[in-house]
Amino acid sequence: MTAPLKTEHGINFSIAHAGAWQDLAQHVFRHAAMGDVRGKLFLKEPLQLTGMEISLGTIPAGRGTPFTHRHRENEEVYIFVKGRGQFQVDDKILEVREGTVVRVACAGVRAWRNNSSEPLHYIVIQAKSGTLANGTITDGAVVSEKVSWSD
Ligand code: ZN
Repeated sequence: MTAPLKTEHGINFSIAHAGAWQDLAQHVFRHAAMGDVRGKLFLKEPLQLTGMEISLGTIPAGRGTPFTHRHRENEEVYIFVKGRGQFQVDDKILEVREGTVVRVACAGVRAWRNNSSEPLHYIVIQAKSGTLANGTITDGAVVSEKVSWSD
């Protein structure tokens, strides 16, 4: 049973409340070939994303992805927010833990596992490779509107 994801949309925003990391397993992603994947929440549709896909994931202690995959057009960034594990890209094994960020190019064959005794929580961002024209603060523009909570 997939827990309902609370969302709200405004003219210039969307917000979703996924719940606490330890409860992420309540979210189930239905994959056409693999069936139900517990603890994986894709946010493209709930947040109406147009330039990236973001997902939240959790893997229980001692478990891992049962497959490897690569991407056609999107590079991926995995941001590990809690726990420890291992991440494989091609024939390289990377140790990951809270605070580790891994970027994988489209062609990289990847898999990951939680080889610890605590849950492993992570965020995945996918975006089309080679399309980022501006980064950091170069795309931002300070405007004159006041912050609502300022005096
Ligand atoms: Zn992927």
